[in-house]
Amino acid sequence: MAFIGLQNFSSPEPNRAILIGNALVAISMGLLYCGCRVFNGRPLEPFRGLIGLVAWLTAWPFVESIFSQRLALMAAISGSYLALSAWELLKHAPQRLMSQRAAVVVFFTAAIFCALRGLVGPFLNAGPWIDVLASRWSSELALLNMFYVPTSAVLLLSMAKERLEYESRQAALLDPLTLIPNRRAFFLDAEKLASRYGDAPLSCLVFDLDNFKQINDAHGHPTGDAVLQTFARVLAEQLPVCAFGRLGGEEFAAIIQAEAAEAQRVGEQVRVVFAQDRLDEVQSRIHATVSVGHATATGISPQELLSRADAALYQAKARGRNRVASLEHEGSGSVRRLHRDPGFQT
Ligand code: GH3
Ligand code: MG
Ligand code: MG
Repeated sequence: MAFIGLQNFSSPEPNRAILIGNALVAISMGLLYCGCRVFNGRPLEPFRGLIGLVAWLTAWPFVESIFSQRLALMAAISGSYLALSAWELLKHAPQRLMSQRAAVVVFFTAAIFCALRGLVGPFLNAGPWIDVLASRWSSELALLNMFYVPTSAVLLLSMAKERLEYESRQAALLDPLTLIPNRRAFFLDAEKLASRYGDAPLSCLVFDLDNFKQINDAHGHPTGDAVLQTFARVLAEQLPVCAFGRLGGEEFAAIIQAEAAEAQRVGEQVRVVFAQDRLDEVQSRIHATVSVGHATATGISPQELLSRADAALYQAKARGRNRVASLEHEGSGSVRRLHRDPGFQT
């Protein structure tokens, strides 16, 4: 893949090598752009990649003997594809990969170079480095091509590698059914949250869907799965920025940096919004509910906080389900009091 068109043969006679060589450059530039689209998961649309080739072949009879016009045309074709590729990677990338950002910079720089060369190249006289822009082939130009081409190849390979790593990390940390963080990711995020907030109070909320086994038995496993997905959506929408995830089965948890009163409010909000959710057809029919337990403490591990919230959840279940119950703690000490939160049946 050469970024810079083959305009610089010393012979003034245009020949077939220029026609074919530049046609190959136009094809490779089109392939680069199409490859970037496919990499981003967008439709290939091969005609986009062929426009440059068609433009070059169509214009050939007119530019065949005019050095400056050939240069301008190939610079326009290469520059446009490079700019489009950079734009594609910048605007349509599903993830922000480091190597992808580097490729954006390299492609944009190369596009600017092509634009400059197409505009001023024909008017420049020989001189060190000016030859890079001028319409002659030069050692400096060869040096630039030798930098850009391998750099681009390495960046494209790095993008593929980084994407694979990203996907396997996602697979290891995302719950495949609900597409929210799994138990492992939850604890990793919770550890980070705990170390970031140090001695500030942290609250853990544990959510357990009520009588879920009955839902499965009465309506079937796929319906149960749909309810789990609905609850995960509600959770993701209603929680503030925090560590959260599906612990397993019909149990979910979140750790937020908040006092007990705020944790109570968040738990109550999730409970009510889920019970009243009408966006999902299955949930509109079934009216599934959730019980919530929460605990607040400072300076204890996420695991310990979770087990305290679990104890509160047990109370919420014992008291009739579809409610929020809490355990309040003083510092890292033991349970101070267990209080019952009103909750309401919907
Ligand atoms: P409680 O109100 O006391 O929490 O009762 P429950 O029925 O919700 O709790 P129980 O632990 O008895 O049942 C949980 C059920 O969740 C049993 C299991 O089959 C079901 N379950 C676990 N994981 C999944 C899943 O991924 N999909 C579906 N559809 N069901 C699941
Ligand atoms: Mg359970
Ligand atoms: Mg349950």
